[in-house]
Amino acid sequence: MPVLGCIADDSTGATDLASHLVTGGMRTIQTIGVPEGQSKDYRDVDALVVALKSRTCPVDEAVESSLSALAWLRQQGCKRFYFKYCSTFDSTAEGNIGPVTEALMTALDTSFTIACPALPTNRRTVYLSYLFVDGVLLNESGMQDHPLTPMTDANLVRVLGAQTRQYVGLIDKFFISGGVAAVRRRIASLREDGIGLAICDTIEEADLRVLAAATADLPLVTAGSGLATGIAEAFARDHAPAKTAELPITVAGRAAIISGSCSRATRAQIEHARQHYVDVRVNALALASDYQNAIDQALVHADAQLTHGPLLIYASADPETVRDAQNRLGVAESGNLVERALADIAARLVHDHGVRRLLVAGGETSGAVVAKLGVQALRIGAPIDPGVPWTLTIGTDEPLAMALKSGNFGATDFMTKAWDLLE
Ligand code: ADP
Repeated sequence: MPVLGCIADDSTGATDLASHLVTGGMRTIQTIGVPEGQSKDYRDVDALVVALKSRTCPVDEAVESSLSALAWLRQQGCKRFYFKYCSTFDSTAEGNIGPVTEALMTALDTSFTIACPALPTNRRTVYLSYLFVDGVLLNESGMQDHPLTPMTDANLVRVLGAQTRQYVGLIDKFFISGGVAAVRRRIASLREDGIGLAICDTIEEADLRVLAAATADLPLVTAGSGLATGIAEAFARDHAPAKTAELPITVAGRAAIISGSCSRATRAQIEHARQHYVDVRVNALALASDYQNAIDQALVHADAQLTHGPLLIYASADPETVRDAQNRLGVAESGNLVERALADIAARLVHDHGVRRLLVAGGETSGAVVAKLGVQALRIGAPIDPGVPWTLTIGTDEPLAMALKSGNFGATDFMTKAWDLLE
């Protein structure tokens, strides 16, 4: 039965968290949204991660979906809960980190929790409540210009305080350096003062382990993905070591790469992969003029091509080409058109051409592919690169091996080295 129930405010963040849990030693499944009812698929795991899209939606929607995720996780038997947000504390002036945390605290009948966004391995650190990104204050890191969640203040006690009716305090580095007992004493004194939420300083990995141990008795923690490793390692120490980072079955079958991400990292990965595999380019303007024909053309030699190894099908293009398509078709229209086409192509590869191993590049693209294939959840396997694990699908006719990569993740050889991990 799962013990740890996690609620993530976006889907690639959910995968990042799930991957940290698996690496730490917990068998983990990530669901796409809140599933309905019970399933035996969700029993044989240590942690469940529900991926929501609640980061920038209206506050009441974020609260409602988070509470329904919590109710479902409790039904599955989870005893402790983890609200996961971005390590750059992405939120609007109204929330949603504060209101969701408050609602979860009320539902769990708890008067105290922590807020620990730091991820030192990615150089997201917190000192005296100020969040630094790669050594630069949050509000000078570029995040101040984010289109949806501009972060104009690096002081997280202030930022969180503005989003919640709870009093917000700080567990500063001084206490964390003093170890688990010192942090526990600090928490006790904050609680005595009526503080409901505490931002946690974090400079290095070791700080996260101290914080994970010192908060092990709290029913709820809120954090980025960093805290998960400490929680999972503590769990793994107390339980028989599970072979968590191995997929439970080997997936045989043909392999394909579908890419709709136009990020610099993905385009470099595609250039690398093109030197090894047959590639087919999908053109947005061709889709707009004759959708069905463009898709048929992309797959016309698929059976022959797939016998040579992974087939790479991509719409990804340089900024100039994308801008041209956007100018002619509209920004949202061209994006949706390409997402729908890549999802249709993925479904045809699976249903008509025997593809069972699929690597998808692009956050929105992954969302479209997963929805089209009817994936309800993902059993998390070994990471290909940090934050991008192989997964096994639940809800499809047969389990598929899938890796869903958001734009900037992965090294240049991501698309070629991924397959070795499935052998
Ligand atoms: P990332 O994770 O890199 O942001 P996404 O899949 O989330 O990738 O977003 C990329 C967007 O760009 C998608 O909406 C996709 O459909 C769109 N897109 C991909 N290729 C093209 C293209 N050639 N012309 C126009 N839009 C494109």
